[in-house]
Amino acid sequence: MASHIVGYPRMGPKRELKFALESFWDKKSSAEDLQKVASDLRSSIWKQMSDAGIKYIPSNTFSYYDQVLDATAMLGAVPPRYGWDGGEIGFDTYFSMARGNASVPAMEMTKWFDTNYHFIVPELGPDVNFCYASHKAVDEYKEAKALGVDTVPVLIGPVTYLLLSKPAKGVEKTFNLLSLLPKILPIYKEVISELKAAGASWIQFDEPTLILDLDSHKLEAFTAAYADLESTLSGLNVVIETYFADITPEAYKTLTGLKGVTGFGFDLVRGTQTLDLIKSDFPKGKYLFAGVVDGRNIWANDLASSLSTLAGLESIVGKDKLVVSTSCSLLHTAVDLVNETKLDDEIKSWLAFAAQKVVEVNALAKALAGQKDEAFFSANAAAQASRKSSPRVTNEAVQKAAAELKGSDHRRATNVSARLDAQQKKLNLPVLPTTTIGSFPQTLELRRVRREFKANKISEDDYVKAIKEEIKKVVDLQEELDIDVLVHGEPERNDMVEYFGEQLSGFAFTANGWVQSYGSRCVKPPIIYGDVCRPKPMTVFWSSTAQSMTSRPMKGMLTGPVTILNWSFVRNDQPRFETCYQIALAIKDEVEDLEKAGINVIQIDEAALREGLPLRKSEHAFYLKWAVHSFRITNCGVQDTTQIHTHMCYSNFNDIIHSIIDMDADVITIENSRSDEKLLSVFREGVKYGAGIGPGVYDIHSPRIPSTEEIADRINKMLAVLETNILWVNPDCGLKTRKYAEVKPALQNMVAAAKLLRTQL
Ligand code: GLN
Ligand code: ZN
Repeated sequence: MASHIVGYPRMGPKRELKFALESFWDKKSSAEDLQKVASDLRSSIWKQMSDAGIKYIPSNTFSYYDQVLDATAMLGAVPPRYGWDGGEIGFDTYFSMARGNASVPAMEMTKWFDTNYHFIVPELGPDVNFCYASHKAVDEYKEAKALGVDTVPVLIGPVTYLLLSKPAKGVEKTFNLLSLLPKILPIYKEVISELKAAGASWIQFDEPTLILDLDSHKLEAFTAAYADLESTLSGLNVVIETYFADITPEAYKTLTGLKGVTGFGFDLVRGTQTLDLIKSDFPKGKYLFAGVVDGRNIWANDLASSLSTLAGLESIVGKDKLVVSTSCSLLHTAVDLVNETKLDDEIKSWLAFAAQKVVEVNALAKALAGQKDEAFFSANAAAQASRKSSPRVTNEAVQKAAAELKGSDHRRATNVSARLDAQQKKLNLPVLPTTTIGSFPQTLELRRVRREFKANKISEDDYVKAIKEEIKKVVDLQEELDIDVLVHGEPERNDMVEYFGEQLSGFAFTANGWVQSYGSRCVKPPIIYGDVCRPKPMTVFWSSTAQSMTSRPMKGMLTGPVTILNWSFVRNDQPRFETCYQIALAIKDEVEDLEKAGINVIQIDEAALREGLPLRKSEHAFYLKWAVHSFRITNCGVQDTTQIHTHMCYSNFNDIIHSIIDMDADVITIENSRSDEKLLSVFREGVKYGAGIGPGVYDIHSPRIPSTEEIADRINKMLAVLETNILWVNPDCGLKTRKYAEVKPALQNMVAAAKLLRTQL
């Protein structure tokens, strides 16, 4: 019985690659230094998997930045603006594509399916001269072999590569990316031949786009591609990996009918219907790579349950053709539990990070082969049982309250126009009211204060004093700038999810549970392990302190339930919506406490609402229903005169606009600086709806300071499609990552632009 790992995190257990990359980019270390860190990481990963007993160990899942960019390099598909002149692609060209350089901006980055990983989007037009320009896959295969590990080289499959690309500038509307298939397959053939020559006996193609809603034309591209590769692949075993969701019956049929393919990998954690497809019809003599160990989460596998699934599959595909695997690459989970010294033993026993998942995969394979490690399995069973029965997990009152929510859809009693009128009587704001999204620059000094308080190096009194001083500074600045609706600046917050998670029960935090987000950037999601509730108010003290410093309205600032959910590792023992409802109830308590404390404007950020949208269209409606419902739960209990804002860090929500409207917020602020035209249609819908809208009037992601004219021009463009009385004037996101030297003049110009336009109305 064999074991297989789809892919492994690259960053290293203590983010070694991150630090090596950043030091190289800062010119503090050499290319050789970076290469050394990378090869040490690769060899330790290969060694770890081989020591664990894994049979099919992946190579080429390491990357200096991103695996899709690696494929772009392999194919020599460098956009002309990077001035690459042929030859093997080196760090210069590679990192210029990833991060831009002094004269050319980076290539676009987008989310990898529904994960928080971002890949570099290939830009392809009819004139790309594909050529074999990065031998990385072969080099890594040989590198592992020299270390005594015979690996399975992993390539992004040719069809997935094209389906994830975007047409180059100038041919956006007209170009059919799949027409490039005949041009890239010759390069794939060169790579395959070299891998064969180097001694590879297996090769893995990742074709995760197979789980999307694909039309027959796209499905045919898979058939054509692998038929063309068949003769080159002969003599090699080939596994096609799919992951992240159920596969449609049509795609399943296409996949299992592909020529030259020996095995198929499926995500059986998310793919419950896939299991039925396999049971009803699996091609004779082919290998099934059964992804039963979850690559997207941090929970220990329920080994007994997996074993019974696997036993069922064994009777279908045959003993020698079943391979135990992970549901997807382990890239999307944390690296190694060994480094978690602060988590208590009970919680730790419930978890498995990448290193532990490798051991689980192997234990399952051995058990199927009749060599069950009884001690390992019984420890796992005990941990599963303790998780089910632990009083830390279950809170009857919370369960009951969440269950009771289902009866109603929690809407505010009056419609938004009536509410806005009531609010305006109280707030008395000018037309084109100005505000900001929440955070103000976080100086080194401020970060130091927070860190020292956390480490008990300064007293609570000193901490409170320091934060109060910071708030006062931010309030004074906003008054001086003459902003209409103020914020306290969020100086007490390190992260918009962690800050709330730390004060809610049911959350745990890791010291090193980092997951790559893009390039060298990693996130450390909290772990939601139990029923969520709010033992005491979380933000009321700071918001009312801030409000006491000014007579202008002070916005209370909260993170919404959907965003907290989507940016955490979520429990897998109840549906996501149950957990979301629980968080919503906790935030509801906070909203109502803020209102009682005299806060009349409350912003509930839902930065990640769109990001949680399922991959398959058939699941969108259900997700949006409970996500939007959760948001409404948080604020359905406030008075008409309390103004509820929400903020979203994106603007491409044309497809979900009805859900955004259904959130029934009084004011929506959105990121707008990057994609203007797309927003116009959204605005038109907004006009019908009547809520306030604040499309960001300048991009805070850049240090550039926009002029008054430029901002005024932008607002004018918005006024062309929006009614004057619903438009708000604000930057597009929080200002946390900017410097005061940038923020002050930018906001000054923003307020000046609003004032200028008020005189012209
Ligand atoms: N209120 C948050 C902040 O200003 C919103 C963050 C965001 O835009 N993602 O930092
Ligand atoms: Zn934002």
